[in-house]
Amino acid sequence: MSDGPSYGFDTLQIHAGARPDPATGARQTPIYQTTAYVFRDADHAAALFNLQEVGYIYSRLTNPTVAVLQERIATLEGGVGAVCCSSGHAAQIMALFPLMAPGRNIVASSRLYGGTITQFSQTIKRFGWSATFVDFDDLDAVKAAINDDTRAVFCESIANPGGYITDLDAISAIANDAGLPLIVDNTSATPYLCRPIEHGATLVVHSTTKYLTGNGTVTGGCVVDSGNFDWSASDKFPSLSAPEPAYHGLKFHETFGSLAFTFHGIAIGLRDLGMTMNPQAAHYTLMGIETLSLRMQRHVENAMTIASWLEGHDAVDYVTYAGLPSSPYNDRVARICPKGAGGLFTVALKGGYDACVKFVDSLEIFSHVANLGDARSLVIHSASTTHRQLSPEQQVAAGAGPNVVRISIGIEDAADLIRDLDQALSHTL
Ligand SMILES: *Cc1c(COP(=O)(O)O)cnc(C)c1O
Repeated sequence: MSDGPSYGFDTLQIHAGARPDPATGARQTPIYQTTAYVFRDADHAAALFNLQEVGYIYSRLTNPTVAVLQERIATLEGGVGAVCCSSGHAAQIMALFPLMAPGRNIVASSRLYGGTITQFSQTIKRFGWSATFVDFDDLDAVKAAINDDTRAVFCESIANPGGYITDLDAISAIANDAGLPLIVDNTSATPYLCRPIEHGATLVVHSTTKYLTGNGTVTGGCVVDSGNFDWSASDKFPSLSAPEPAYHGLKFHETFGSLAFTFHGIAIGLRDLGMTMNPQAAHYTLMGIETLSLRMQRHVENAMTIASWLEGHDAVDYVTYAGLPSSPYNDRVARICPKGAGGLFTVALKGGYDACVKFVDSLEIFSHVANLGDARSLVIHSASTTHRQLSPEQQVAAGAGPNVVRISIGIEDAADLIRDLDQALSHTL
């Protein structure tokens, strides 16, 4: 299939990046279960290793099945290239790696997936990196947090767990004025609901583990490059603008232009950090993406029905779903994710921590798991699990206080889900 902006999302989610296998005509993308690729001759091998020719060398760097997935996600996000990796957390490190150095920092939203808050507040310190967390609704605070050592601004489009919507237009304008890339984690929204690059994002990261795969089978991640950032405009990003000793002084930005970040991600990031996606995982994720739009429509429809029902229940204090008329983020839904606010929200129970534990333990269709974005409906009591490592203040700031349960609405029958929620809530009254 030739690429063209004329193809719609539903067509691209099935065809982008794929073509019948040139060797066999196989219609579905084969799982290229191979570690290495035979060089035509010694000159070919040398050209590949010098990055003078693009081709397959070794599956830590590139693999044909993974390459189809990379092109598919890049196309759906409206980016120029993408690098897949072994998990969403790997993707975040892969996105930051070319930008950061010891002593550098990122400015990040205080509303993030709990694991990301831990990765940014604890683990990245071992690289000499740091993160400053601020409320991204306070634009002056975001501006004030940026200093000479800042190298990126990071947020989620629809933030896990509360379903809070970030004003990407306002945040990208601040990053742009500061000459910094904006990295947006688009896991909860998916490119069907939100395309962060259209709102000024430089890089988009994904946990493909969630909605993109959509069935809870494999972990994976992806970094998509918009191709829009001028890495040579300042001396802040030497990994991309200055000579690279490991490739005979090659300058990535000068040599690869808008594909600089993607080439760096493969030639340095995957080569040396080795956080590679395997072809089996890419296969499952490709299968999932074929039905992404259909699933997201149902996730949104079910989430809307169930959030409205929960809001009227006696045991419920409040529901955070941004699609509800009661949400303060209605105008952002219309602007940032007009097809819907996703399938993820939190419900606060009047009975507090104990009621949350009873509720979660009484559900039958909903599973209590540390996952989201599955065809199945899932719940988790964040304060005792994913957000457990956080301080009480951080838990509340992240929308994961002790009285709050996170709900990931699946694509089952809404009536069955409501019946299950109703019987479980009756145990908390
Ligand atoms: C799950 C998740 C991650 C981490 O992804 P893994 O694939 O579990 O490493 C990052 N961000 C968000 C929003 C997530 O939901």
